[in-house]
Amino acid sequence: MANVILKDVVKKYGKLEVVHGVNLHVEDREFVVLVGPSGCGKSTTLRMIAGLEDISGGTIQIADRVVNDVAPKDRDAAMVFKNYALYPHMNVYKNMSFGLTLKKMPKDEIEKRVREAAAILELDELLLRKPHELSGGQRQRVAMGRAIVRHPAVYLFDEPLSNLDAKLRTQMRLEIKQLHQQVQNTIIYVTHDQVEAMTLADRIVVMRDGYIEQVGSPIEIFQNPNSIFVAGFIGSPPMNLIPATVRNDGERQKLVLSDRLDIPIPEKPGCKFNDGQQVVMGLRTKDISLTNGDEANSADLVCTVEGHVKVVEPLGSETNLHMDLQGAELVATSEGRRLFTAGENLEMGLKLTHLHIFDAETEKSIY
Ligand code: ADP
Ligand code: MG
Repeated sequence: MANVILKDVVKKYGKLEVVHGVNLHVEDREFVVLVGPSGCGKSTTLRMIAGLEDISGGTIQIADRVVNDVAPKDRDAAMVFKNYALYPHMNVYKNMSFGLTLKKMPKDEIEKRVREAAAILELDELLLRKPHELSGGQRQRVAMGRAIVRHPAVYLFDEPLSNLDAKLRTQMRLEIKQLHQQVQNTIIYVTHDQVEAMTLADRIVVMRDGYIEQVGSPIEIFQNPNSIFVAGFIGSPPMNLIPATVRNDGERQKLVLSDRLDIPIPEKPGCKFNDGQQVVMGLRTKDISLTNGDEANSADLVCTVEGHVKVVEPLGSETNLHMDLQGAELVATSEGRRLFTAGENLEMGLKLTHLHIFDAETEKSIY
């Protein structure tokens, strides 16, 4: 059993505080991904869990034991970095077994563990090769093998795929997910890549400027981002976020975009806005249907508007259209195969069932 519990964890470098009292409860066997832009404190948080950085405040528990003063090697956690730094003169077998040899583990136990890890990672045929005889993906797998042979209770990954090319990254992502399904250990994984976070995580922890912004399953975070920051960070292309003013005539509420485009706000219990309130409207690119192209699902509440195509980005299976909507700019993703051209006018259906509204000042979700 290995849960990981962070309580009010603070990190300061001298006077500069970079992690401001983080609270997080990672369940045993859970795959948790810390995601956020560069510099938001992901690596620092992970390194504090690993014991590679001192903690300036708060406590960290691994498997119900406070580890603040426990040496990294005694924390039962193994870390995999993006710079996997294999020993160039050692073959794969030696690279994987080296740490265990240092620990004076019996030879047959070492052999058993290396064979087992090699089988999981499909490295069986490569055990006698040196790192320079391996591809980037194979080297990254050896680095993971080095962690696996330790049988740690917790795996800590810091952007392990960021040095690989796009295709290999997708493949290794799948392998890491399969690895978790096989070994079922607790994994805390750091990345700045929201696609990696979405595809891998049981739960995503979105970080910003040394704070946790939101914690939830990928779908929860995608469907109900609690702030403008999360809405813009998770999802690709990002959610359309457009400044708007609320008009409330006492009966009906609507959003006014760029002073001329009216969008009705469907009634929702507890969601009353003030006349003139400044907000930010959020709508995912796929929640815009294009008549003449795709048809909206009849169950959706749709507001139809006229738009002008400015730039077309075809991706094959879908097309991103940068649109001008009577002065408001937004991106619509069409899944249809119709061809679009810059300059044409289109009728667009905004699916208000999936409308988000954020307070312009607090940046928090209010609808
Ligand atoms: P991330 O991994 O999310 O990109 P880091 O955890 O590496 O971010 O860094 C968080 C913040 O702490 C950054 O502002 C970074 O400049 C700062 N920082 C990291 N390491 C040190 C250090 N050794 N000394 C001073 N500041 C540091
Ligand atoms: Mg980092």
